[in-house]
Amino acid sequence: MPDSDSIPQKSLIDFENDPCRFQKKLLGWSHKNPRPMPWKGEKDSYKIWVSEIILQQTRVNQGWQYFERFVKAFPTVEALASADEMQVLKYWEGLGYYSRARNLHAAARQIVHDFDGHFPETFHDLKTLKGVGDYTAAAIASFAFNKPHAVLDGNVYRILSRIFGIETIIDLPKARSEFQNLASRLLDEHNPGAFNQAMMDFGAICCTPAKPVCTECPFNDTCRARLENKVSELPKRLEKRARKTRFFFYVKISQHGFSYVCKRESKDIWKGLYEFPVLELENAEDFKLEKLESAFFKQKLPKGARWGEISSEFTQLLTHQKVLARFVELHLPPEIPVGFTKESALKKCIKVSESDLTKKIPLPKLIIGFLQKKI
Ligand code: SF4
Repeated sequence: MPDSDSIPQKSLIDFENDPCRFQKKLLGWSHKNPRPMPWKGEKDSYKIWVSEIILQQTRVNQGWQYFERFVKAFPTVEALASADEMQVLKYWEGLGYYSRARNLHAAARQIVHDFDGHFPETFHDLKTLKGVGDYTAAAIASFAFNKPHAVLDGNVYRILSRIFGIETIIDLPKARSEFQNLASRLLDEHNPGAFNQAMMDFGAICCTPAKPVCTECPFNDTCRARLENKVSELPKRLEKRARKTRFFFYVKISQHGFSYVCKRESKDIWKGLYEFPVLELENAEDFKLEKLESAFFKQKLPKGARWGEISSEFTQLLTHQKVLARFVELHLPPEIPVGFTKESALKKCIKVSESDLTKKIPLPKLIIGFLQKKI
């Protein structure tokens, strides 16, 4: 490893003044390292859009199957626009970040109403769609319409900060314009789709977050991070926030082959998904039947009604939260109306058959886990 005095001060200067050299190295690497994906080479803007939204927070391996199922169920923007929200969320079930599905659905309706069903082609028009930010607009504009817009995502931040030795903290607002300007200067304007795809592939295969394959990298002779022994330090980020733990106590009311589920409406996790009546607790010691009884019921349980066992813990990790849940079944004979519960407990619930519960109702992963364990 050379000492810092002998590091050539040229990588930034060279590539900035000669972006062709950067493009040649990147596209040459891409040519030798093909990365198969179902949407690769796709020119249908609708399918490109769906794939980009799925990939926003999902790995390719996990997203692949979802993409195929989703575009089979909703093959056109019109088909998606005319679908019911519950159906759309059902196809998204398990993928997380459900606002993506709700936004896709809303944006499909925007395209039908505001653009006569024609997919918008410019970066500006694409950005008017719900859930489409700079990154997705640049990806669709370049992949589907060959427009010269450089994408800027986590891969691009990482690659550029390492190659150019940029120490700006990438979570800060000022980083966006700095990195976007650099990515735009490097972009191959004649071939923007291939360039953007190559950047993403390079970030996923070669310049990975942990253990990048520097020995096989076409930039390894000029990469500042490598030359200065800073690969593991770049890109610079703010300290991660600790995850908050939440405690959900669910009551599965089972009555003659039916259950009760409510839609999550508030600005919180899993908006639009359905769940059993839930009591959010302060801590793990509060998973007690008395807590549920006083929160949900007006009086003692009627004769014939009986509690099942409280389940073991089910955990789901989200970006900033950890949800720890337990479930308990309340078995009700068919003749007892559920009216003995407090009004607030079941106010927004719908009654669904056990078979529809898993087939038609979009549920959080945690609840699916509980139902699968029960079967
Ligand atoms: S040399 Fe290593 S750190 Fe630098 S761009 Fe290549 S893979 Fe990334």
